[in-house]
Amino acid sequence: MRGLAKAIDGLELPALEKISESQEDDPFQVLIATLLSARTQDATTLAASTRLFKVARTPRTMGRLSVKQLERLIYPVSFYRHKARHVKATCQRLVDSFGGNVPASMEELLTLPGVGRKTANLVLILAFRSRRNICVDTHVHRIANRLGWIQTRTPDETEQALYAGTEARWWPILNLYLVTWGQNVCRPVYPRCGECVLSPMCPRVGVTRVSRKSPITAAAVSHEERGSHI
Ligand code: SF4
Repeated sequence: MRGLAKAIDGLELPALEKISESQEDDPFQVLIATLLSARTQDATTLAASTRLFKVARTPRTMGRLSVKQLERLIYPVSFYRHKARHVKATCQRLVDSFGGNVPASMEELLTLPGVGRKTANLVLILAFRSRRNICVDTHVHRIANRLGWIQTRTPDETEQALYAGTEARWWPILNLYLVTWGQNVCRPVYPRCGECVLSPMCPRVGVTRVSRKSPITAAAVSHEERGSHI
């Protein structure tokens, strides 16, 4: 993790980290942006979230938009029709059950439509500064297994295995470090093992083919290569 801390310096931050910083960690906007980010390119999530938040920034104002309006604002995120319905339903539930605020507990977050553990964990970490949660997305699941830290089949198993097998001081930043590394170096296909600071200690579990491209730079990585955050 210390090696990664140095290595990610200068690389582009994941979209949700940028949104969290730019919105001063507003829990509602972190929650909505995280809902939009599933299986969507980072640049698309950032653009859609920006469009949406220009029109509505609170559960009450966003909940008054129709599903069709929401669809138009968030398009082309993946599954935009499905997500528009979840956004609308989540806003209504926040207003009806939580006084228009985003709840700060895992149990309550999981009652919101479309919110699973990875979304809830990310909201708790980014918006509520929790130090007791790990957000496991596809990058964290893949890289932790490639590194041989854990042997798991699902992100939920990975989350529990990481609580058991890693030091708590790393939990809040594990997602940031591994997502940044996963978007730039340890990519889903053709990871850049030749450029990786973790290479000397990595057993590369399950890696069959690696990239032979030139050294990694932030500019060299196109958005197409980055993949989605979640
Ligand atoms: S050495 Fe390769 S597989 Fe291991 S973390 Fe680095 S890029 Fe990923």
